[in-house]
Amino acid sequence: MALKENIEHVLAGMKDAAAISDRELCDIELVAVTKTVGADVIKEAIDYGILHVGESRVQELLDKYEQIGDAVKWHLIGHLQRNKVKYIIDKVEIIHSLDSYRLAKEINKRAKSIDRVIKCLLQVNVSGEKTKHGISPEDVEHILEEIAPLDNVRVVGLMTIAPHVDDKEQIRQCFKTLRSIFNQVAETDLPNIEMKYLSMGMSDDFDIAIQEGANIIRVGTSIFGKRNYSK
Ligand SMILES: *Cc1c(COP(=O)(O)O)cnc(C)c1O
Repeated sequence: MALKENIEHVLAGMKDAAAISDRELCDIELVAVTKTVGADVIKEAIDYGILHVGESRVQELLDKYEQIGDAVKWHLIGHLQRNKVKYIIDKVEIIHSLDSYRLAKEINKRAKSIDRVIKCLLQVNVSGEKTKHGISPEDVEHILEEIAPLDNVRVVGLMTIAPHVDDKEQIRQCFKTLRSIFNQVAETDLPNIEMKYLSMGMSDDFDIAIQEGANIIRVGTSIFGKRNYSK
């Protein structure tokens, strides 16, 4: 695996897409998705300039955190069960998968106990697929009103996962929809809610996502190669 070349290739793609949307590479944050990737390889990626890593599973994040610690910023990008919040609360930079008020309440409680404010992104299920977690677009405003009074949770943006289809226009439409929800929320004036980050785009579609306004992308396969879940 040519890790260094892969990272350079992704950065070049980011730069091109950023130019199309009148931005620069430094305006967009790359989260390297490290699920199934070992700590040794993650350390190598850090040597090549990776500053942010994303994990879907709590246990996997904890195992690797033990070996790597705060040499990199940790993003929790997968569905988070309430009973696991306590394990990661002092380790994560951003939770991308906030998808219910009950989860927000638990994050708030745990964050309060360590005297921190935790940055979260509301996960929106734009495509409406039943297999996906996330709030449906029409419920976003209501749930943000519920979450707003929780002072130790700061919602700093929105996250989505595009539908797994070949149709690039359908994917672009999904990102456009999230962007428009983002703009709508930005107009409202709720405490603890700030529309700063749009986390959208993965290996196959991050160029489209950036063109549509993403400023955090989550890329695994294009950096580390195809995942091997049997390991
Ligand atoms: C696995 C995963 C990614 C990365 O996907 P790739 O196609 O490997 O780039 C991004 N976001 C989430 C939420 C994921 O679970």
